[in-house]
Amino acid sequence: MNPGSRLIGYFRVSKRDDLYTCEDPQKLESFCTKKGASIVSTESEVSAGNQIVRVGLWKALRKMLCSQCEPRQMPMLNQYEDWMRELNKSCSCKSAKPCDGIVVTDMRAVTTDMAQGARFTLDLCAAGKHLVSLAEEKCLSCCNPQAVAFLRKSILP
Ligand SMILES: [Zn+2]
Ligand SMILES: [Zn+2]
Repeated sequence: MNPGSRLIGYFRVSKRDDLYTCEDPQKLESFCTKKGASIVSTESEVSAGNQIVRVGLWKALRKMLCSQCEPRQMPMLNQYEDWMRELNKSCSCKSAKPCDGIVVTDMRAVTTDMAQGARFTLDLCAAGKHLVSLAEEKCLSCCNPQAVAFLRKSILP
């Protein structure tokens, strides 16, 4: 992430009551302000973290692709690969204003499954989008030399 980066905030809680007391939005905001980045909007949801295919995360990622439009409805899909393919389809509007990535307090906001988290990180890296984690204080995807090197190796013969 760089100063001027436009990001979508995302956080997840396990109980509905926590949605209103969760301090993640303030944490995301102050971190980004410190780094000179901005949060265009924030998505949240009540969910367990083991299933990555879910509506709030879908909305956050769609807003990353176009911050102008309301995200289209999430198609009924179970497979991560299909879901990611749908996510990457560009917005149907002619004035899509993409953001540069998403920001979370911790990778566990996205998924509690490490293998799934690694795939997601690489997918964002391939898309050239930041996945900023406050826990690591940096982007884990496109600005991460290890993720970039891994992708290069897996794409090139
Ligand atoms: Zn759009
Ligand atoms: Zn990055």
